[in-house]
Amino acid sequence: RWAIAYKFQAERALTRLRFVSFEVGRTGVITPVANLEPVLLSGTIVKRASLHNADIIQSLDIHQDDMLYVEKGGEIIPKITGVDTDSRRPDATPVEFVDRCPSCGSPLTRLEGEAAWVCPNKYGCSPQIIGRLEHFVGRRMMNIDGIGEEISADLFASGLVKDIADLYSLTYEQLTTLERLGHKSALNILHSIDESRKVPFERVIYALSIPYVGETIAKKIARSVRDIDRLMSMPAGELASIENVGPRIADSIVEFFAEPVNRSIVERLRQAGVTMSASEDTAGTQTDLLNGKTFVISGVFTRHSRDQYKELIELNGGKNTGSISKKTDFVLAGENMGPAKLEKAAKLGVPIIDEDTFLRMIGQE
Ligand SMILES: [Zn+2]
Repeated sequence: RWAIAYKFQAERALTRLRFVSFEVGRTGVITPVANLEPVLLSGTIVKRASLHNADIIQSLDIHQDDMLYVEKGGEIIPKITGVDTDSRRPDATPVEFVDRCPSCGSPLTRLEGEAAWVCPNKYGCSPQIIGRLEHFVGRRMMNIDGIGEEISADLFASGLVKDIADLYSLTYEQLTTLERLGHKSALNILHSIDESRKVPFERVIYALSIPYVGETIAKKIARSVRDIDRLMSMPAGELASIENVGPRIADSIVEFFAEPVNRSIVERLRQAGVTMSASEDTAGTQTDLLNGKTFVISGVFTRHSRDQYKELIELNGGKNTGSISKKTDFVLAGENMGPAKLEKAAKLGVPIIDEDTFLRMIGQE
């Protein structure tokens, strides 16, 4: 509309590339990382920046010892945006992507149409196993407190935990043999592991690290399939008909459960008492009373937690969004709703409802 928006240019710094390291993630994807001479950028010292994948290294044409432009922009993780080719040494050689896994030495594979190189040694490559362990214990998965990146690596290195199911047979004596763990932390971990048996089925599905199955997909699967045995025996065609699950995710699930290692992990988790089916409660409350309605939640509630309200909205066919817009149907407001949100809702004429009104809407007094 003939208006002009001014933005600050992202801060940019020039620094020398020390070397490129190749890191193996939980799913086996290899990420190249530029290790840099430390440089000050937007108030923090930057030493590392992701190069994302092989295509980016190639398109930037990065050479050994190059001077690189680093930007922070709106993101937290800095990125390399360019190369100062004028300062390049004449004898510098281009940075080459590895063709073997830097951890286990397996030849890397690349899926058709994807930029990422992957180490196919899923069950023998330590950073992948440790990565899955770290994912499994995460707050939004099994929520096992006290096991972070370092303890995950220690548990694996000590041989105490070779896969996620081993967590459930850990003892106090075993845990306290780890250098980093004292009496209190060990007890805390054991307590958290015990509590994790109650974590709902949808989060267990997410925690398993099935490729392409994220938090939302795991929820949809749990609600529609409801039971691990059914999930493990479901043909791809049937899985693909679940909302948000396309053929690619369906194939990935079938492939995952075709692997004897994974079936045995599921079996051991079940024996350990981990939840392997959806509870009757969630089935009972599922309705389409809020069909297509969009909600924004704000403030502090007394009758349920914020996460439970989000859950209730989804279970009854509604949608959650983060910010108020013309498309918002209701703001579900608790105590201490932010004044900016209040003002915005009023300005756009979005109705603000309290928790009692909301619970009446879904037929729960
Ligand atoms: Zn590997």
